[in-house]
Amino acid sequence: MAKIPMKTPLVEMDGDEMTRILWQQIKDELLLPYIDLKTEYYDLGLPMREQTKDQITIDAANATKQYGVAVKCATITPNAQRVEEYNLSQMWKSPNGTIRAILDGTVFRAPIMVNGINPVVKNWKQPITIARHAYGDVYRDTEFRIPCTGKAMLSFLSDDGAVQMNQTVYDFECPGVVQALYNKDDSIRSFARSCFQYAIDTKQDLWFSTKDTISKKYDHTFKDIFAEIYEAEYRAKFEALGITYFYTLIDDAVARVIRSQGGFIWACKNYDGDVMSDMVSTAFGSLAMMTSVLVSPDGNYEYEAAHGTVTRHYYKYLKGEETSTNPVATLFAWTGALRKRGELDGLAELSAFADKLEQATIATIESGVMTGDLVGLWEGDAPAVKTNSVDFLKAIRANLDKLL
Ligand code: NAP
Ligand code: MG
Repeated sequence: MAKIPMKTPLVEMDGDEMTRILWQQIKDELLLPYIDLKTEYYDLGLPMREQTKDQITIDAANATKQYGVAVKCATITPNAQRVEEYNLSQMWKSPNGTIRAILDGTVFRAPIMVNGINPVVKNWKQPITIARHAYGDVYRDTEFRIPCTGKAMLSFLSDDGAVQMNQTVYDFECPGVVQALYNKDDSIRSFARSCFQYAIDTKQDLWFSTKDTISKKYDHTFKDIFAEIYEAEYRAKFEALGITYFYTLIDDAVARVIRSQGGFIWACKNYDGDVMSDMVSTAFGSLAMMTSVLVSPDGNYEYEAAHGTVTRHYYKYLKGEETSTNPVATLFAWTGALRKRGELDGLAELSAFADKLEQATIATIESGVMTGDLVGLWEGDAPAVKTNSVDFLKAIRANLDKLL
């Protein structure tokens, strides 16, 4: 069979530890034999970040802006222990943070569903995608511990001194705590646009929830900005696709999500998204079956797995022990990126290949062949057969060949 051609290269961001090993295995086993793979390669592995003083991460993010689609392997975010382990000259920042700051995007996380691994919530039939606004709120707050009686004030002073606002937060009659949060209209707008755009791309309904009845300025601003942008820029497109935008209070949203069948995007403010994405991913099964895509408001896409570099497995691998690390989320990062590249370049064959590779992966698990992390979750009819990562990829390849 002739290899499937590509036009524009994918931005390929390699990473660290066990996922770096899986990265190569996925390419060797499932991509290079079938596709005339064109990528612009950036090694975001920690040694190269150290060697380039992290310039490589910035270059990779800028290349994503240039080409539009990237696929990223999990990377180490250094802490004090990593500084020692890798003999780093600095505690380099999180690559995902750097990339997100350059692309200004929103992260969408969605579970990969297979028959036989059932969500804890039994009526969930379709994935629920969480869109988290990854800016501001409690993550950039200012807070004090109040040590004694006194008055806590919130004030604002414009640059020219013309606008002055000053309000008592609380007259403390005993010790306590106080907190100030902020957000920016610009950031909320790009969050909204990324969400509407992703709903159109994936033809799913979009839900958004805040607590605007209680937070009449802060949360209400989020609600208003979403509503304005929807009316002005997206309503017609949504109606043409038969999808809906639905706003509700966060507590009502939680109740509806639990009773739903899934199949929609749930946009959340930063803290809500942090909490709800862990709840939703756990309820769907496994972190190793969770994909993640960063979508920028001007239409750039960076696909990755939601999990990290699986350090514990890597140390076993280095000792020569057999590991059974799940490559599915990393593989789906590749298929997501290839499908998007196919769509943008008008290469139907490339997008169809991505679909088939996903089908083959799901069929493999549904036949009972899976990595160790899934065995304990398995409720399918076929007996579960635990394989190592490479044998699992080979089993996918056998199923893929049947579909091609
Ligand atoms: P992790 O790599 O996600 O792994 C945590 C645990 O979850 C693993 O030990 C393993 O459990 C299980 N797990 C995760 N992915 C799996 C897979 N594909 N197959 C099987 N089991 C899987 O999180 P971490 O150990 O907290 O972080 C490790 C490194 O990853 C850190 O340096 C962190 O900075 C980095 N990180 C990167 C990203 C990113 O690049 N997006 C995200 C998160 C973390 P068992 O050990 O019980 O088998
Ligand atoms: Mg969290």
